Amino acid sequence: MSTILFPGPVFGPVKSRRLGKSLGVNLLPVDGKLCSFDCVYCECGLNAAHRPRLSMPTREEVREALEKRLAAMRDADDLPDAITYAGNGEPTSHPQFLDIVRDTRALRDAYCPQAKICLLTNATHLNREDVFEAVKLIDRPCLKLDAVDAVYVRFVNRPNTPYDVNDVIERMKAFQGRCIIQTMFMQGEFEGQSVDNTTDDFVNPWLEAIVQIKPEGVDVYTIARDTPVAGLKKAPDEKLAEIASRVQALGISAHWFG
Ligand code: SF4
Repeated sequence: MSTILFPGPVFGPVKSRRLGKSLGVNLLPVDGKLCSFDCVYCECGLNAAHRPRLSMPTREEVREALEKRLAAMRDADDLPDAITYAGNGEPTSHPQFLDIVRDTRALRDAYCPQAKICLLTNATHLNREDVFEAVKLIDRPCLKLDAVDAVYVRFVNRPNTPYDVNDVIERMKAFQGRCIIQTMFMQGEFEGQSVDNTTDDFVNPWLEAIVQIKPEGVDVYTIARDTPVAGLKKAPDEKLAEIASRVQALGISAHWFG
């Protein structure tokens, strides 16, 4: 199974269907993966197989690397449409995340004021006041919510920090609509048990949570690359389209990616 690890604090740009030309920022160690989840579908691989030895980049290292890349992109007349925190694990676990977001906004304003600052996060650290403040400064925060079933979350997302899905939903609501909910739907099995969250048993309570959160939008997606465990299956396009249309019927924008 292949895994994707990013070799520096800045990577790409990558072409994104949603974001256009997106320059990636990896706040995690470059030699492994560090995440408060250990999702069975993670493209970076399982935590235990990729324990990093190196440290996270410092705030200064991130700022310098980002400025250097933005200056080069400006000189090449190739500025990004988005600057996205993603990479080798959970970006908000960086202890200087708030300061890094402030630096990024200053650099964005200086080099490419039209670019959106985006974040892919599993939402586990929203209970940290500094992280909550940082996420409010981000143009497009994408918050993971794969299911509201605690057993499913324990089995598939496998949090390694205290995680109460109802508490997380409350924190998502506190953004008052300024967030995107991102959900991985899949079928198949892991260790002999179903991981199918496309059935009404999972989708109906998830939709109820979406109604409560009232996000700006919902991204419905499925497995796109190799997974670190066998037995997982992509959700069919028809199922993804059906789930997205159920969100749209609630008056909330939704996109699906097969
Ligand atoms: S939250 Fe993202 S980075 Fe972390 S284990 Fe899950 S898929 Fe991987």
